[in-house]
Amino acid sequence: MAPEVDRAFPVRAYGNDAANAPITTRQIMRRALRPNDVFIDVLYCGICHSDIHQNRDDTPSQRTTFPIVTGHEIIGRVTAVGSAVTKFRVGDIGGVGAMVDSCGACTTCRAGREMNCLNGATFTYNSPDKISGGMTFGGYSDGIVVAEAFVVRVSPGVNLAASAPLLCAGITTFSPMQHWRLEAGQRVGIIGLGGLGHVAVKLAAARKADVTIFTTSPRKIADARRLGARQAVLWSDEASMKRLAGQFDLLVSTVPQPYAFQPFIDLLSLDGTLVNVGALEGLHSINGLSLIFGRKSIAGSVIGGIPETQALMDYCATRRITADIELIRPSQINEAFSRVVNKDVRYRFVIDMKA
Ligand code: NAP
Ligand code: ZN
Repeated sequence: MAPEVDRAFPVRAYGNDAANAPITTRQIMRRALRPNDVFIDVLYCGICHSDIHQNRDDTPSQRTTFPIVTGHEIIGRVTAVGSAVTKFRVGDIGGVGAMVDSCGACTTCRAGREMNCLNGATFTYNSPDKISGGMTFGGYSDGIVVAEAFVVRVSPGVNLAASAPLLCAGITTFSPMQHWRLEAGQRVGIIGLGGLGHVAVKLAAARKADVTIFTTSPRKIADARRLGARQAVLWSDEASMKRLAGQFDLLVSTVPQPYAFQPFIDLLSLDGTLVNVGALEGLHSINGLSLIFGRKSIAGSVIGGIPETQALMDYCATRRITADIELIRPSQINEAFSRVVNKDVRYRFVIDMKA
């Protein structure tokens, strides 16, 4: 149903009021539509581990302002458009990832890297809202107002629920593969087989790279081949870690908690790069000398720009790449959070907002 959108209006949302407090139902306000805004009636929203970091306020360098409504893997139907909108019509399906605004004028924005905006991108939640004031509220909600430039098109015919995780898990792992030019035949290792990790395996396999999964969970090993990896190795398997030393062109780490990096740096080949995308603060146990001799790099990467996100969505639609999801109702969010933290998700929870 199209809301009255010429003034700020309430929508139902699921959020929490303090670190570790349970997620509960509430009403939040969405802004009146500006000429370039669209209203998205949210159908599906993925649960990313970033939502959990922010709900629990567990990353000291990125504090949470409560109350918070998380969610940044959003797919929904456009049910109202501002007077100047050209990209969407009422009835279209649109996707929103982790970012809803940026200055649009700096060199990085103009290069399509809005997430690195020199004046600070506005992220989908827990981010100062330069338009309405206060903090932004995300996609665990019945609806969201977003500038059309930050909404990507979703190809007809794709599985909407299983495509939602591409908007964060997908772009966050695709972008490093593009930047570090992962090619067919190259060896890539994906560290951590969760939401990001399992999409990363599919994306790397689609490029015909030789994929190895590094997991802490013995019960996930059987999924390696189905997802497109040649092998899965347990971190604790010292013999395999030794055998694989010096072999990887690229490693993508999706682990959400600090751990010893050195055993993985030892796996990098000459000029190899370990890209961390996990939202962890301390990088532990790194031997500088081990980087020097092989000209190895440690890097980081955050989501991806809007043009690259659109390219990824189109790429996945053409190749039928989606996430492996478990669909839940809004009332199951708290339970889903616990299961994600306990590595008990195969491999992404997606909230069915209409359930
Ligand atoms: P997830 O679904 O929880 O997957 C993380 C996986 O890491 C786990 O399933 C587990 O896989 C492995 N792991 C190893 N040690 C762990 C530990 N101590 N605790 C939990 N997991 C451990 O998380 P996600 O949604 O993929 O997100 C991964 C990280 O990326 C989070 O920190 C998230 O905030 C961050 N992130 C960053 C960006 C970005 O733009 N840079 C975007 C999205 C998310 P195994 O069972 O295989 O060991
Ligand atoms: Zn995310």
